[in-house]
Amino acid sequence: MRRSVVMLGAIATLSVCLAAAPAQQKPKLKVFISVDMEGISGIVHGDQTSPGTAEYAAGRKWMAQDVNAAVEGALAAGADEVVVNDSHGSMRNIDPDDLHPKAILISGTPKPLSMMQGIDPSFQACLFIGYHAKAGTENAILDHTISGSVVRFVKVNGIEMPELGLNAAIAGSFGVPVVLVSGDAAVCRQAVDVLGRDVVTVQVKEAYGRLAAKLVPMAEARRMIKAGVTDALAKVGRAKPFKLAAPYRFELGYHVSAQADMGAMLVPGLERPDARTLAFTADDYIAGFRTLRALISLAPAR
Ligand SMILES: [Zn+2]
Repeated sequence: MRRSVVMLGAIATLSVCLAAAPAQQKPKLKVFISVDMEGISGIVHGDQTSPGTAEYAAGRKWMAQDVNAAVEGALAAGADEVVVNDSHGSMRNIDPDDLHPKAILISGTPKPLSMMQGIDPSFQACLFIGYHAKAGTENAILDHTISGSVVRFVKVNGIEMPELGLNAAIAGSFGVPVVLVSGDAAVCRQAVDVLGRDVVTVQVKEAYGRLAAKLVPMAEARRMIKAGVTDALAKVGRAKPFKLAAPYRFELGYHVSAQADMGAMLVPGLERPDARTLAFTADDYIAGFRTLRALISLAPAR
């Protein structure tokens, strides 16, 4: 009797091992989503992205719906875990009740890695949803770089970077490729310029200037986001992380010289190539990114 129990136990253990084996062989797919607001379907004006306005409730709902389409696309591609980092303004735009029930939300600010908080080497892919073009782009909804009132441009190693490039280099530091960018036509063009032709772009609107756009119908935009994410994740094995060459030379151009004054006075080791520009070199990209954010935070608004 006792012997047969042992035998049954052994058989049970064996069957558990056999059942577990295929799951262990399947590589885990963890997807990180950074979601901004200016490039969300339907958004054309700052009132739709700023708490305290009549239109904000609609803007944050559209944001959740675009990101939920991306989550659906990731799950359809076999994602085991999807982390969504709210990356706009207060970073409390997505009502957790409105997010897809299978996604994990990172909410609030400040965060050490800002729009990229939560990324680490355990992720296989990164998606940028609702992104926008860099400061100074024509025909681009709410174009800016990190801070509209402070930053005229950011260059790294001589290349002027939109937020998508600065953030893709953070993902790249952790070995994670950015495989999809959604937003207006301008940010889609800049995504290809910076990241190369392999990145999947989903254009949900085409701007006529800074504050008006022709919109893809909302349901169609979300269908395109979902399909684009599934498509991008299907070829994730071939995607390369975006990496710049060390050392990293950062140049920060401000709108006015008073904004450069504070960094020049308070932060040691900076260069000031001209009255409105501060520059520095970092051996570690993340360290350089932190210095960049500090210099932006120190500057008085125009
Ligand atoms: Zn934003």
